[in-house]
Amino acid sequence: MSDAIHRRGLMLVLSSPSGAGKTTLARSLLAADSHISMSVSVTTRQARPGEIDGQDYHFVDTQAFGEMRNRGELLEHAKVFDNYYGTPRAPVEDTLGQGHDILFDIDWQGTQQLQEAAADDLVKVFILPPSAAELEKRLNTRAQDSAEVVAARMSKASDEISHYPEYDYVIVNEDAEQARVQLQAILMAERSKRARQTDLSDFVKALRDTL
Ligand code: 5GP
Repeated sequence: MSDAIHRRGLMLVLSSPSGAGKTTLARSLLAADSHISMSVSVTTRQARPGEIDGQDYHFVDTQAFGEMRNRGELLEHAKVFDNYYGTPRAPVEDTLGQGHDILFDIDWQGTQQLQEAAADDLVKVFILPPSAAELEKRLNTRAQDSAEVVAARMSKASDEISHYPEYDYVIVNEDAEQARVQLQAILMAERSKRARQTDLSDFVKALRDTL
């Protein structure tokens, strides 16, 4: 895209049932595109092996989470699988203000709250697994969660999937590379929307003046 025209940053939301490959997809998009960064959520859940505080999540206790929420520091928040999750407001506002895009890995409850707060800036993408068998396989091979946690996530998947009509785009994640290409195409198209290119009229005026 041309750097001659400024644009408003957009909020790209990815939601899916747990295990549909959303985290891998988010990482490959971030690696391929320097104009988008990740929103790091706060959560009360325990860190999984290998997760880094401040990078994957900000891991906090229930009291600290409640205080952030009460002070209005969370743009959205939800309870998912018995833990609290929320999006810190300040980094999102800073990033958008700089004309950069921001990627959210949040559930349908958080997406609905962002829809109420910032509908114009929101691009909502739902990721589906190709099959139930594949979903279970991915949850098991992640090998970070106990059998009980995997079973709970499988039984929640149907509820989560029922929210797909609330999203603008749907990607069936059969092949990681193909899904990444599809997601980048969505991002490119959304960036090109006329309403997001904020000083387009000045640019076009200057262009016409020289014709
Ligand atoms: P996990 O515990 O597997 O990292 O995430 C569980 C679920 O919580 C996922 O569906 C993820 O998208 C969602 N989630 C993670 N961070 C947030 C957040 O800040 N807000 C909301 N509403 N959901 C979140």
